[in-house]
Amino acid sequence: MLEVANLCLHYGQHLALDSISVRAAKGETIVILGANGAGKSSLLKAVAGMVSPDAGSSVALDGKQLLGRPAHEVVEVGIALVPEGRGIFGDLTVEENLLLGAYAPRARGEETRRRAFVYELFPKLAQRRGQYANTMSGGEQQMVAIGRALMSNPDFLMLDEPSLGLAPVVVTELFATLRRVQQTGVGLVIVEQNVKVSLGIADRGYLMEAGRIVGENSAQALLEDEAVQRAFLGKNSEMQNR
Ligand code: ATP
Repeated sequence: MLEVANLCLHYGQHLALDSISVRAAKGETIVILGANGAGKSSLLKAVAGMVSPDAGSSVALDGKQLLGRPAHEVVEVGIALVPEGRGIFGDLTVEENLLLGAYAPRARGEETRRRAFVYELFPKLAQRRGQYANTMSGGEQQMVAIGRALMSNPDFLMLDEPSLGLAPVVVTELFATLRRVQQTGVGLVIVEQNVKVSLGIADRGYLMEAGRIVGENSAQALLEDEAVQRAFLGKNSEMQNR
């Protein structure tokens, strides 16, 4: 179980995360929904050990405290992040990018098996293993980023807006692949503005607003919730067509 409790984060004077509590069981998929600037990326970065939350915050995996550990140690305990913008190396090939994801001791010695698993999940990457990442489409680059994160053999995969900038048909394909990742027992924590498609594969969801969690429910209940529909799926919403 991944448990975030009373997580507070300041950037200087600005309180970006205000007493956040969320949890995800292994094998569960949760979605964090919120408008731009709500603090969704900051939450993932705090869990990943990339920013330092305030004293009194807690991020625990199976009861073990993670706060204060550097990012590489968080990967080592089994939590991988696919950052917004993907963070892949454009001048390296698909295969070189994947192998960089296997640096964690928990994945060492497993590279061949993990790589075969990633290529099975993304057959397109197998066909293009020698292609430079910067010559690939946005959807393919997102696959490389997810594949690289999976190379570390995570128990939890966190994804920051994986659908951003992708055409609807590519988003559909991407989420179909995430379903297959779910089936391997990996827990998913997905930050998204694409409400329909992300809740469509989720067990539960949280609503974030101005650094706070303002709602939590089953994915189905959130899809049917009028306030969610108004905020994210309404006729005048900028997110309607995403
Ligand atoms: P988006 O969907 O636009 O990525 P978000 O919900 O992920 O938004 P965050 O990126 O976590 O939101 O940002 C939350 C708040 O913290 C915003 O007001 C943002 O301007 C601020 N913020 C984020 N990173 C920093 C930083 N490094 N320094 C100062 N303020 C920051």
